[in-house]
Formats: sequence, structure tokens, C-alpha cells
Amino acid sequence: MSEIEREAMEYDVVIVGAGPAGLSAAIRLKQLDADLSVVVLEKGSEVGAHILSGAVLDPCGLDALIPDWKEKGAPLNTPVTADNFYMLGEAGGVRIPNFPMPPLMNNHGNYIVSMGNVCRWMAEQAEELGVEIFPGMACSELVYGENGEVKGVVAGVFGLEADGSYGPNTEPGMELHGKYVFISEGVRGSLAKELIAKYDLSAGKEPQKFGIGMKEIWEIDPAKHKQGTVTHTMGWPLGGNAGGGSFIYHLENNQVYVGFVVHLNYKNPHLFPYMEFQRFKHHPMVAELLKGGKRVAYGARAISEGGYQSMPKMVMPGAALLGCSVGMVNVPRIKGNHNAMLSGKAAAEAAYKAIQDGRSGDELTAYETEVRTGAIGKDLKKVRNVKPMWSKWGMLPSLALGGLDMWTNTLGFSLFGTMKHGKTDAAATEPADKHKPIDYPKPDGKLSFDRLTNVSFSFTNHAEEQPCHLRLADPNVPISVNLPKFDEPAQRYCPAGVYEVLEGESGPEFRVNFQNCVHCKTCDIKDPSQNINWVTPQGGDGPNYPNM
Ligand SMILES: Cc1cc2nc3c(=O)[nH]c(=O)nc-3n(C[C@H](O)[C@H](O)[C@H](O)COP(=O)(O)OP(=O)(O)OC[C@H]3O[C@@H](n4cnc5c(N)ncnc54)[C@H](O)[C@@H]3O)c2cc1C
Repeated sequence: MSEIEREAMEYDVVIVGAGPAGLSAAIRLKQLDADLSVVVLEKGSEVGAHILSGAVLDPCGLDALIPDWKEKGAPLNTPVTADNFYMLGEAGGVRIPNFPMPPLMNNHGNYIVSMGNVCRWMAEQAEELGVEIFPGMACSELVYGENGEVKGVVAGVFGLEADGSYGPNTEPGMELHGKYVFISEGVRGSLAKELIAKYDLSAGKEPQKFGIGMKEIWEIDPAKHKQGTVTHTMGWPLGGNAGGGSFIYHLENNQVYVGFVVHLNYKNPHLFPYMEFQRFKHHPMVAELLKGGKRVAYGARAISEGGYQSMPKMVMPGAALLGCSVGMVNVPRIKGNHNAMLSGKAAAEAAYKAIQDGRSGDELTAYETEVRTGAIGKDLKKVRNVKPMWSKWGMLPSLALGGLDMWTNTLGFSLFGTMKHGKTDAAATEPADKHKPIDYPKPDGKLSFDRLTNVSFSFTNHAEEQPCHLRLADPNVPISVNLPKFDEPAQRYCPAGVYEVLEGESGPEFRVNFQNCVHCKTCDIKDPSQNINWVTPQGGDGPNYPNM
């Protein structure tokens, strides 16, 4: 693409992604120096359109960034008032009391929020400070300088021909150059993936681990709604097939977030994460809550789970990875937004100091030091063994030992050191013939829904005539390798029904319905052959989440 002539714009800091990490960085930069030029580029049609997060928000990140967020009208309207944890069996559940839980698991002082709305509010704060925010602008390429440093990004390429070539309606986009470029694309970002490979940033670290999180918003009978109540479950229906569990958060307006996370290191390629979620809603406790209500939105997104030992090096010449582009989710707390905000703040402070010192295009090592040794590192270090314990020993032993480890870590030591994750999630998938197929009940259309019906509630849209953004390194692999060996698990792990194996005239054919893609990135993570590369489609495409 080097022959393409593009206009270039110069900024002090270019930020990719208007999630909590990117917006926090933008706000902090302008708080420190109103004269800095800062731009934020977001692929969603508006800020918040691609944000999917439960969410119970620990406000410590917001407290540090905008201490008077309450007076400024931040949409944190529902304090957590009750915190329940259940171990489910098929017909019932046992409530685990809160007292044996380590203090870090306590949700007291946290808020049930729509992170989409929190991001929309943060964008307003940023714009008031003079940050330029461009939604509908996907950053599709990185621009490197003469010395191999990251110099900027290409954003705003529209109207490519279906084969990826330039046609009469193609807009080539523009280059945005910065003294520093912040990559805050969230989990499994496409530019972050390129940078991690180019600069070998994961060398010496454990592989990143992931889960797939699916979520629906329900409007329920006001008599059953208990604003401020947070419920987490484990156990049924996943049992021993995979790690994971559910969340049910009662926010305002008689709405509840009903969500389900499946750890992507599951072995059995017959597992169907979406159908596990649908089945979960038929549990008597959940069915009773939802009966008579209606599902008003659906979405899905991968969640980073590797934690402390999986964080790659996060700085390279000219750029820094922020938030879940690094992977900063505290897995037992299922919380990453607070760390995303703190990382944005820390990156901004490091860049501000560097720019003041006349630097540009180098490594912001002060940022990395702050992440590893400051509040984020401390938060993640205490829980670093919970995920590897679960992968190694299963749910019940890891509940007991993970609890013990979190307690001792709270006191400053661990009996287990730092455990390893081992394999990537893709490599964890085992051949289909080693596992039994799983029989999933048909969705009833009341509590449970088929994938395509649910995808229509993500309000996803992709222009049909553009190139497929789910690139197969070898188009033969799905049928020649994945189908015989793994029963092509893409048919099941994708929560949006993008991938199908159809019977063609000369045998099975692989179809990629990229128009349905909700940008969760699971295919890029879980494909056992690592043959699928998720790249960003043109700006404005993808889901249009209301208040997820
Ligand atoms: C189901 C689920 C439930 C969760 N629940 C909670 C919870 O209750 N509490 C909590 O604290 N955390 C929760 N998390 C984790 C939390 O969502 C993440 O830690 C957080 O979103 C990370 O913020 P971020 O800014 O790094 O990335 P994101 O929030 O993912 O934001 C990234 C932004 O960058 C944009 N972008 C990506 N690539 C490009 C590109 N190339 N060009 C332009 N724009 C781009 C995206 O569209 C998006 O808007 C949950 C996650 C999931 C999946």
C-alpha cells in the first residue's frame, strides 16, 4: 500500500480506541497540558457502540482521573447493594457465604453501570478539554518511521473493493502521526497483535489467556427487580467441560444484565459456548427471574484472563499498549475497567513528561514501570494464580486453593509462587474424536434464542461489498484440517454464527458470513490452526450496542 498518497496530520499523541483506557489517557494528557494536541480514533459508529462490559465498576480508576465525577454527572447511578455467589446444580443452587471471600472480592463501593454510557460521558469530558474524537474511523494500519519506530496509524479507509483493491469509490484515509501512539484497542486488538509480534513483546511471558463473554440486557417484571443486586454463579451448565460462569446485575429501569463467560482453554471442540449461555437461562433460578420479561439487546466480546504473568512488554519505540491491549482484567473479580483507566492515566503521565523533556518516538519505560509496580500490578499480582489453578485442577479445588492464595497474597506472600498458564487457548483444543458431542436443547424463543435472532439484537451492520475482515491464511485449512480433526469448531465458538460448514456440490464448504461479526475476536483466539486473522473492517461497521 506504500504507493497510496495520503494526507498526514501531526499530533502530540494519537490514541487508537475510545474505550476506558484510551479516553482516560486523552483526558489525563489534556489535564496536564491543555496545549497538547490529542486525537482519539474509534471504529464504532459512535463512542460506546462497541463497548460491551457487564459491568460492575470499581470507581478507583475514575476517582484517580476525575475525582469530582459525581458532581460532573458521571452515569454511575446504581451502587451495589447486595452481592451473591451461587454454586449451581441443574435443579438448584447453594449460596456461598461472603465471609470466607478475601476482601478484594467485595463489591461494596462499586457501581453497576453501562460502560457504553460511561465511555460516552468520558468522551464528553475529553472533548470539553479539547481532545479531538473521531468515531467511525477504524485504524487499519500502523505507520513506521525511518528507524523502525511507530510513527502513527492509517485511519478512515472506506469503500475498498471486495477483493481489497482500490476502486472508484475508495477513500484512502489519512495518516495520523504522533510523538507517541497509544494502542488501546481492548482485548486482542489487531494493531496490538501486529506490534506484539513485530517487537516480540511477549518474549519471556506466559501466553495471554481469554474467555468469551456473552451478554443480554433484559427488561424484567418490576416485582422481581432488585436494583443494585449482583449475582455470580459457577457450576451448571458447564460442569467439568470448561471454566466459566455467569453474572446477573440489576441496573436501573427494571433492567438486568445477564451474562455468561466461558474460558477459551476448553478442550472439547464440540462445546458450544453460546448454547451453554442459552441453556443457563433455563436454570430454575434464572428462568424465574426472566419469565415475563424481554431481551432487548445482545452482544459478545472476548475478555483477557492471563493477568499478571501474561502481560507483554507494553512499550516499544513510539508506542504503548494500554488497558486490555495488554490484558489487565482481574479474573476472580471479573473487572478490568478500573485498570484500563489507571493504565490510560499512567501512559498519559509518562508521555507528558517525555514530551516536556523534548523526547518523541522512544520507549515510555516509566509507563511500564508504573503498571507493573503500581496499583495495577498490585491488583493483578494478588490474583495471579486463580486462573492457572482453575485450568490445572478444575473448579472446586481451585475455589478453595485460589481463595487461600488470594488471602495469603493479601498478606503479602503466596505458597504457590507464580503459576504458569502453559498452552495458548488455541493449542488447548483437542481432537474431536477424543470427546463426546454435547446435546444442546433447542432455544424456546422465550428464554433462549437462536444465534441469528440474537445477533439482530446487537444491531450489527457491515457494508456487504467490502473485503471480508476475517482473513484466512490458508482457505483450505477449515475443510482439510479443522473439519476432520476438530469438527471445525468455528461453527460453535463464534457467538454470532459467522462461520458455517455447508454441504456443497463437491463436498463440504466453509462459509464466512462476516456481516454478522460482533467484533468479539474469539475466532482469532480459538481457531486451533491459528488460521483466522481478525482485521478491522471499515469504520462505523460492527455492532451498535445501546447501553451495554
Ligand atoms: C462480558 C464481559 C464482562 C465484563 N465485565 C466487567 C465488569 O463487570 N467490570 C469490569 O471492570 N470489567 C469488566 N469486563 C472487562 C472490561 O470490559 C475490560 O477490561 C475493558 O473493556 C478494557 O478497556 P479497554 O479500554 O482496554 O478496551 P475496550 O473497552 O475494549 O475499548 C476498546 C475500544 O477500541 C476500539 N477499537 C479497537 N480496535 C480499533 C481500531 N483498530 N481502530 C479504532 N478503534 C478501535 C473498540 O471499538 C473499543 O471502543 C468485562 C468484559 C467482558 C467481555
